[in-house]
Amino acid sequence: MERCRSGLSLSEGAMSRQIKVEAAEIATLRVAAGETLRVVNSLGGQVVDAWFFAADDWTEHVCMSHSRAALRTIRPVVGSAFVTCRRVPLITMAADTSPGVHDMTMPPCDRWRYQQLDAPGHRNCADNLRSALHAAGHAAGVMLPDPLNLFQNSPVAPDGTITFRESSAPAGSYVDLRADRDLIAFLSVCPMDIMPINGGSPREIAAVVLDGVT
Ligand SMILES: [Zn+2]
Repeated sequence: MERCRSGLSLSEGAMSRQIKVEAAEIATLRVAAGETLRVVNSLGGQVVDAWFFAADDWTEHVCMSHSRAALRTIRPVVGSAFVTCRRVPLITMAADTSPGVHDMTMPPCDRWRYQQLDAPGHRNCADNLRSALHAAGHAAGVMLPDPLNLFQNSPVAPDGTITFRESSAPAGSYVDLRADRDLIAFLSVCPMDIMPINGGSPREIAAVVLDGVT
């Protein structure tokens, strides 16, 4: 595991490796094939933007559009395999103790979104990923993959209308994601405090890499 950019607590053990990721920060984690990444909503109500890149080829990453097509849904469940832009499974949802409300449709928050919201210079998930990619030695352009927005409650009504609501994830609930290949995961603790998705107050999460369980 690589240290999270915030330099917060990190521990490594024989069975698992765990970090705490503060609100608005991003963590970079290496997950080997067969290992499971557990994303814990420590205090509840927090959205986590998640990206996954193949460790051996940074041009290959999970794509939400291709995953929607492969899964025939916008609502991932246990067993859902997220595929890359080459339609190859990279990571699979192995467990979910939250109410199962996640988003596969929205881009990350970015500097332009906050400009629209009269908050220029606001911390944002897109720049978090750019910084983390740069720190890992990779250039990041203007275009970024759309994230898997864990715990994000942005339902699509039958008439197609999308709304933004508070995350329904309880404190301590988690999602397990099993790596199908060696990969690098980026977890951005969404700093949005203007729209209601994080209840107006972003908060810390935890991430654990479990060795070959679940
Ligand atoms: Zn965000």
